[in-house]
Amino acid sequence: MPSPADERPLLSIVLPCFNEQEVLSELFRRLQCAAAEWDHTWEVICIDDGSHDRTWELLQAQAKADPRWKALRFARNFGHQTAVSAGLFHATGQAVVVMDADLQDPPEELPRFIAKWREGFEVVYAIRTKRKEHAAKRLCYWLFYRVLASVVANPIPLDSGDFCVMDRKVVDVVRSMPERNRFVRGLRAWAGFRQTGVAYERQARAAGEVKYTMRRLVRLGLDGIFSFSTAPLRLATYLGLSVSLVALCGVVFTLLQRLFSTFFASIGLAPVPGFATIVISILFLGGVQLICIGILGEYLGRIYDEVKRRPAWVIAEGAGIDPQIPSA
Ligand code: UDP
Ligand code: MG
Repeated sequence: MPSPADERPLLSIVLPCFNEQEVLSELFRRLQCAAAEWDHTWEVICIDDGSHDRTWELLQAQAKADPRWKALRFARNFGHQTAVSAGLFHATGQAVVVMDADLQDPPEELPRFIAKWREGFEVVYAIRTKRKEHAAKRLCYWLFYRVLASVVANPIPLDSGDFCVMDRKVVDVVRSMPERNRFVRGLRAWAGFRQTGVAYERQARAAGEVKYTMRRLVRLGLDGIFSFSTAPLRLATYLGLSVSLVALCGVVFTLLQRLFSTFFASIGLAPVPGFATIVISILFLGGVQLICIGILGEYLGRIYDEVKRRPAWVIAEGAGIDPQIPSA
């Protein structure tokens, strides 16, 4: 008699979908074609992240046509990282793949990732060699990953995204993390185990619009930094110290100017009633104080989100799968 572990598919594929009606038929076709070459069992878990278009109808139809396709519908839009987390939560495979629904991460590449996983790596993440996005966005990504690497204790590999294969052990660790602000690639790096990267060329989106607006990207970036590092709090201290140092130099200079007024006058630095200086220093200090309050606020907001202990997501219905409730 097969044990429950044998009934598990070898591979689960987690696909977050938000208003992806244009791309879904192509996704079904490409993934089925790619999977026809695989010699292992698989399942797909699609998370409809509160789409307003026909995404859910299409996912439901697919789940009806092929029981290996399962779908969950969020009660509203919870965001990409939460959708990925819910997918990881429901995946039953011994290895789990996370990829985008828009075919920017090609399913044909998966055998290379699976091969590495079979070699014994618990996390095989994708490293983007070429991005087919415009220069300003690429520069932002480039900068973000470098800043992140310099402030985070266990660094997230440079230029790695969410596209990856994770072993069940890592999925269980990520699943057990209760936090609400979920930066999945950070949680994955935090888990440890043997991790390796596989280079791939990130494709342009197959169809439809980009759902990650600049605002959402900035929010994701802030989650990445503030959820994994307290370095910004230290930055506030350093900022405060440097401003105080500048102020101290100013005090010493003013004293000397008063004591040796004739000398200072001879070199053109006679004391003048400095209205501008006062205004500038007040503005500067005000700016530094606001930055520091902002940094405190980022952490305070996150603590507030956590202590409320609301569920990270709400599932409205499932197709081919029963929704489970994450424990608080
Ligand atoms: N996505 C999501 N919820 C959101 C935004 C995006 O589930 O609120 C999904 C989207 O359907 C896609 C993936 O996340 O499968 C990546 O989004 P997108 O392609 O828009 O962004 P990119 O990473 O390419 O900039
Ligand atoms: Mg995309």
